Amino acid sequence: MAWDFSTEPEFQEQLDWMREFVREEIWPLETLDLDVEQLDRAMGPLQERVKDQGLWAAHLDPELGGQGFGQVKLGLMHEILGTSPFAPLAFGNQAPDSGNSEILALAGTPEQKERWLHPLLAGDLKSAFSMTEPESAGSDPTLLRTRAVKEGDAYVINGHKWFSSNASIADFLIVMAVTDPDARRYQRASMLIVPVDTPGVEIVRDVPTMEHPEGGHGRYGGHAEIYYRDVRVPAENLLGPEGAGFLIAQQRLGPGRIHHCMRWLGVSRRAFDMLCERALYRESHGSVLGEKQTVQNWIADSAAQMQAARLMTLHAAWKMDTEGSSAAREEIALIKFYGAQVLHDVVDRAVQLHGALGYSTDLPLEAMYRFARAARLYDGPDEVHRQSVARSILRGYEPPADGIPSQHVPTRRDAARAKFAHLLEAVTSND
Ligand SMILES: Cc1cc2nc3c(=O)[nH]c(=O)nc-3n(C[C@H](O)[C@H](O)[C@H](O)COP(=O)(O)OP(=O)(O)OC[C@H]3O[C@@H](n4cnc5c(N)ncnc54)[C@H](O)[C@@H]3O)c2cc1C
Repeated sequence: MAWDFSTEPEFQEQLDWMREFVREEIWPLETLDLDVEQLDRAMGPLQERVKDQGLWAAHLDPELGGQGFGQVKLGLMHEILGTSPFAPLAFGNQAPDSGNSEILALAGTPEQKERWLHPLLAGDLKSAFSMTEPESAGSDPTLLRTRAVKEGDAYVINGHKWFSSNASIADFLIVMAVTDPDARRYQRASMLIVPVDTPGVEIVRDVPTMEHPEGGHGRYGGHAEIYYRDVRVPAENLLGPEGAGFLIAQQRLGPGRIHHCMRWLGVSRRAFDMLCERALYRESHGSVLGEKQTVQNWIADSAAQMQAARLMTLHAAWKMDTEGSSAAREEIALIKFYGAQVLHDVVDRAVQLHGALGYSTDLPLEAMYRFARAARLYDGPDEVHRQSVARSILRGYEPPADGIPSQHVPTRRDAARAKFAHLLEAVTSND
């Protein structure tokens, strides 16, 4: 009987170290308005300490320079790193580099790994994943329009993308493009490595968003709009076989999605701690807020939702570790939309309880709120995950052959009378 919620003592010590390190060394950096260079300089010594501690790039296998932790340990770790937007950077597993390194590890040739993966893992290169387009629905990537046409020993890419996170500070892009429009739907697209300085790559801007309304260019965490105009890359920049884009994307998005869900647990917890702190000191209408039943409901509901999200996330992680990423698709889709909702609800209550202060930038809550809103969109909007969960569940059911619901009481009563007739008659005759 293996059903165990405990953490190995040695790993618990590592988690305790991470919690302290993130609070003491990384949370303070959030209060400074750092540009990319300053952030890189501030991160350098912190990244060295993480490497010394044996926690660098924990999402990858040891032969790739990672720790090979598996998803459950990563889940416990990300719960701590997720509390700060900068912590994953200090630990070498920030999005989108962590997902891109998984793609390169999975589909890259030895030469591609040497040129792109190893420097990415060492923190010497930055990357972006460029799939979504303004003109086609990102929630249905079979509609992609960007084309990559083979000409001799090169591919020529033309297209328009946006929301390629970190592209304006990246060294290379992993671009999803249609290589064979006549192939079956999920075999039309391929992934290609495109260095940002390739002629024809035009990074127009970081799109102004709810998160960064000022937009601009060159921001860590910015989401870039990009034109690809006759961008020529050598054929050896193709990742995996031609037409394998969706297959690779699926394998990348599984771990990528669950890592987001794990980080959201950390954000929710931080907002929840602020909610509880506020409940204990703010007085209104004759008592502290924590004595009002509405506030108690928020605390209890948040605790229950966070616990549910945590268990669902760790269960999905456990399934990935034991049965693989594909086997855990339904669990990952479940936690993707549920976790995003929990994050949103907890942060929303914390903002509400802080009143005007919660709405102000004097607290990190308003930034968490904007972050939480995006979680319901990226890596697939809520509706698409709900749809895929529902479809998968419905595959386990059949309609009743006769059109009568299987639990229809009059029908079942007739069947029960027939089944137990001998007993019922015996009782009657004894009477
Ligand atoms: C902060 C952020 C970072 C991102 N980073 C990246 C990145 O690094 N690289 C990248 O390529 N992309 C990135 N994206 C893009 C993201 O993946 C897409 O926004 C997402 O896939 C949705 O695509 P779309 O925006 O085109 O919306 P659409 O596909 O137009 O969908 C719009 C809405 O339609 C509804 N909808 C869609 N399908 C269904 C359905 N089947 N049933 C019911 N309703 C439905 C949903 O409400 C959905 O939100 C990022 C987005 C955000 C917000």
